[in-house]
Amino acid sequence: ETDKVILNVVNRKGDLREEDVREMVSVCVWQKLQAVRTEISGLEEEKKHISETVKALVVSHSYYNTSFLIKRGREIRKRLNELLPKDTELEKEHYSRALRLPNTTHPDVPIGDESQARVVELVGQKPEFDFKPRGHLELGEELGLIRQRRLAHISGHRSYYLRGAGARLQTALQNFALDTLQRRGFIPMVVPDMLKGAVFEGCGMQPNAHYSQVYSLDQARFPDLNLAGTGEVGVAGYFMDHAVNWKDLPVRTVCSSTCYRAETETGREAWGLYRVHHFSKVEMFGVTADETGVEIHTLLDMPTQELGSPAHRKYDIEAWMPGRNSYGEISSGSNCTDYQSRRLNIVYEREDGSLQYAHTVNATACAIPRTIIAILETHQTKEGTVRVPKALQPYVGLEVIEKPK
Ligand code: AMP
Repeated sequence: ETDKVILNVVNRKGDLREEDVREMVSVCVWQKLQAVRTEISGLEEEKKHISETVKALVVSHSYYNTSFLIKRGREIRKRLNELLPKDTELEKEHYSRALRLPNTTHPDVPIGDESQARVVELVGQKPEFDFKPRGHLELGEELGLIRQRRLAHISGHRSYYLRGAGARLQTALQNFALDTLQRRGFIPMVVPDMLKGAVFEGCGMQPNAHYSQVYSLDQARFPDLNLAGTGEVGVAGYFMDHAVNWKDLPVRTVCSSTCYRAETETGREAWGLYRVHHFSKVEMFGVTADETGVEIHTLLDMPTQELGSPAHRKYDIEAWMPGRNSYGEISSGSNCTDYQSRRLNIVYEREDGSLQYAHTVNATACAIPRTIIAILETHQTKEGTVRVPKALQPYVGLEVIEKPK
């Protein structure tokens, strides 16, 4: 079993190393915890036996001298007072290590890095241009939709403003996604963007790790509050310590939220809307009885190194971005099996009244900035205008985005 866990950790190439797993299962903490627990249960049994014996002797008015039993009882109590806090401390340490373990991996997931992703389906055609297509930032600036320059003193790097039709594109995409999903039975939700560390950990994210992409508020003033990088955290928190009736499964929810990401890796897509510190995203989150409960739209079957901690299997959707002359990830759907629900205590009540851990799934319905990139770059014209896709026209209130007069 340990070897299987290690192979999984190695294949996924997360922050956990083989040595960490070996230490977790074999050495120190786990063994110490077991030893403490064995001693505690032995002492508790002895304590129970002593108190029953003393009680029986008192009831039978026996002249048997109980003082040595009472003395032993005192010794046991003293030792238990030492052991119980130790048990709590060791358990905390053990769980904080175990929390870093990733989910199991579906056996059909390709092993390796991004280059090993398996294309499941290709939809539509790449647009053809009789001119050199421009990037979204250049287009967006010229059309007065995006401002990203001279923000150092206002909101810093990887920040941006959307204005005019740019801002309308954002609300149009949000409303289009919410309307479409509500028609398909998804419950719309508004969720907190600031949450406690335990919810992040339950989702398989480590807000306090040095490599974390999670922003934490000033711990002295606002202890344990962190900014969510995805609406998934808020919705998962809603279902924490929650029992769902089997008749209500699968529960499908959709929320639109602002996502905050530290994006600590410098250099990657430094400009434009592709990799920013704050962005809006419409996210789907489902609670199911098992992984067959909800379908995930599958276009790219992601390999082990792209799964993160919580996903058992993950499918991405990429869109063609002519300005980048490449595909770019716009959506990601993960089947997390019971990994999150075991940590967050999300259960469902079966017909016979028994409780069972639920499964959770999540997927991007629409990550706004990257979808705006794909729209601007794909629908640009030689004249420098942008055609608004038909489905969004009623939401944007325009057929074509033109240069401001
Ligand atoms: P993830 O939760 O990391 O799977 O991301 C979900 C989607 O959010 C991705 O498919 C991207 O479209 C979008 N996204 C993730 N990080 C960023 C970022 N820093 N800036 C803009 N969009 C992002």
